[in-house]
Amino acid sequence: MLETIYVEDAVASHPRAQSILARFPKAAVIPVNRYGEVFNRNHQSFRLQKRKPSLILAEKQGNRVLPAPEGYGIGSAQNFYFSHVLNCLYDCRYCFLQGMYRSAHYVWFVNYEDFQDAIASTVSVHPDEDVYFFSGYDGDSLALDSITGFVDAFVPFFAEHPRAYLELRTKSAAIRPLLSHQPAANVIVAFSFTPVTFGKALEHGVPPLEARVGAMQQLAERGYRLGLRFDPLLYTKDYQRQYRELFEAIFSQLEVRNLHSVSFGPFRMPRDYFQRMHKLYPEEKLFAGLDEESRMVSYPAELEKAMRESCEEELKRFVPQSILFPCRL
Ligand code: SF4
Repeated sequence: MLETIYVEDAVASHPRAQSILARFPKAAVIPVNRYGEVFNRNHQSFRLQKRKPSLILAEKQGNRVLPAPEGYGIGSAQNFYFSHVLNCLYDCRYCFLQGMYRSAHYVWFVNYEDFQDAIASTVSVHPDEDVYFFSGYDGDSLALDSITGFVDAFVPFFAEHPRAYLELRTKSAAIRPLLSHQPAANVIVAFSFTPVTFGKALEHGVPPLEARVGAMQQLAERGYRLGLRFDPLLYTKDYQRQYRELFEAIFSQLEVRNLHSVSFGPFRMPRDYFQRMHKLYPEEKLFAGLDEESRMVSYPAELEKAMRESCEEELKRFVPQSILFPCRL
């Protein structure tokens, strides 16, 4: 799978780096001083690299835990995110990563212990509150787990820090690592969905809805708390019917008592990311009809409001308001 692995000098002897290099003995190994030399290089083609991404092993320096954007949350006032990985195994046409990064290579920050120290100190600053940490912000938290071993490192860590909540957001159905751990009440495995027709056309490599709902059922049986994420909401002429059918397909198989939270949010993207993304796929119909005039590209306000309201109404048929969280970015 991996033909080239770049290794930052700082992590060359790190046990996680050593272990992944041993698993891919045929990969070309290229030492680099800092990962940005490869990742941020000019004149790269995200679209070409996406066909065969390389892996970059790196050390996360500086701020390892950052405040989540205003309006992002599932019930707590204290929301943070951290990224142990940049980029994703899947290829969703609407993904903001392809507008944000110049490269489609996977960057894996192997210094997990430093992330964990940062999480523990963030929690200690908020002694009387639950603190939420979102891990699927710059990639999918589970899809690359066979490389990153994220679950093995972080589920037990969060289990020992009950006031720290982990949202592990994913479109993967590869849940074996999660099933091998004792579930912790403060670990929420959140699955993102769009209607089936969008999924087929726009989410390349993502397992089908049935596989993901099946994965959710298994996790629920194991005792995990689950999340549902309908974010971004995508427009098509018959979006009301499509979202209704999506919700019916999911809630006919999941028990609401296993859900920690359900959130939904409109399509939003900084204009420069959007323009870069649009350039990669100028023929993509999904991008037609968006309002590109303001700093944030989104659907026109009236349409966005109608989509939000319609989805919220539909969701209320299945879940109580207390676990329903509109994302207000
Ligand atoms: S699964 Fe999420 S992170 Fe991965 S390509 Fe799709 S939208 Fe982007």
